[in-house]
Amino acid sequence: MHVLNHPIVHLDADAFFASVEQAADRRLRGIPMAVGGLLRGIIASASYEARSRGIYTPMSTQRALKLCPDLTVVPGQYELYEEFSDNIFGLCENITPMVERSSIDEGYMSTAGWPELGVDSWKGIDRRGPGGAALRGRYRQIAHRVHQLDDEILRWMKITVSTGVAGNKLVSNVASKLRKPHGFVMVPPGAEQAFLSPLPVRRMPGIGPSMGGRIAAIGVKTIGDLVRLGADGLRPFFGSMTDHVLNRARGVDHTPLSLGRGDAKSYGHQQTFQEDIGDFEQVVRIAKGMIDELLPKIRKDKKQARTLTLRIRYNDMVDTTHQRSMQEPADLEDDFYPWVRPMLRKLWTRRVPLRLVGVSFSHIYDTQVQPELFHNGRVRRRDLVRAVDEINAKFNRGGKPGSAIKRACHLFGKS
Ligand SMILES: [Mg+2]
Repeated sequence: MHVLNHPIVHLDADAFFASVEQAADRRLRGIPMAVGGLLRGIIASASYEARSRGIYTPMSTQRALKLCPDLTVVPGQYELYEEFSDNIFGLCENITPMVERSSIDEGYMSTAGWPELGVDSWKGIDRRGPGGAALRGRYRQIAHRVHQLDDEILRWMKITVSTGVAGNKLVSNVASKLRKPHGFVMVPPGAEQAFLSPLPVRRMPGIGPSMGGRIAAIGVKTIGDLVRLGADGLRPFFGSMTDHVLNRARGVDHTPLSLGRGDAKSYGHQQTFQEDIGDFEQVVRIAKGMIDELLPKIRKDKKQARTLTLRIRYNDMVDTTHQRSMQEPADLEDDFYPWVRPMLRKLWTRRVPLRLVGVSFSHIYDTQVQPELFHNGRVRRRDLVRAVDEINAKFNRGGKPGSAIKRACHLFGKS
């Protein structure tokens, strides 16, 4: 049976925060500039002018200024980035409702159901990107539409995106990052393995620098080397993940798009009580317990969140929510804990017991911090948090994550 597979487009904005700053303020254009993180003193995003001077992310702001004394560092304006992000994805959603926003500046689109284009509109699509001349039929039309989208984004928002088109998420993701900035790479069906094979292993999502170093020691440099090594050679390194890694190295990936606005964009949990709860401190503990369940998931996905939403439902079924945002994204319990009590006080204004409590994190960002680079109190806390995550992952009881070690506040009722 032939399964009709629709190509997937991966879109990734170039130097996103820095580019938004340059788009919003013409004085920042054409100069080495960067967005500096307040919490950690690191560069969160660097303009291409700064990158050509050796600035990269994550790098400490101090070090960046030493390397490039005329670097302009501005604080992040995350609300502005979210607005640009909404505009970019809004343009994508004009083409198809099947859009997965995987982070603030990256997302996937399905090409299923894209309208057929007339022959005239094929003109000019070979102007950049490899394989233009070889593009045929459907792929040619998709390339054309992606270029239209890319022009719209550039004209309207004055920022560039890079795009990759391929038969699955994995390959489209790798493709989009290959020719930044303002790149376009299309991988025709059947060419996935040949496309990945010569690329360095670090291009493969999920293989981090430490694994990269371990397999480099046995001569694995390219994704093709992984395939040549085969399952027996890979097993000592990847264990039960071996077949998965091998499949991906061959360009095989069946991960579906995660659709529905909520899925990729937020992490949430809620609990309906069998008996109504009227005790404020008990609800605080429950909400913090939910934060404890959600943040390890967020960290595991190498994400951070900027916005915390609390939701309550009174026992007369009236629902209400309250939301608060950090100045910049964060991923530690201690960042959000202090908000729970004041937020709940704002939220729970009626003298009516609760039927349901919910917590969700939204405005999700990719984590850029490599904590081992920074030795301050925040990093030590992060190390502790990571150790707890690992222990809980190993020893979770009865399949319920996070049950082996709990923060003391749940036992003693304070934070
Ligand atoms: Mg990006």
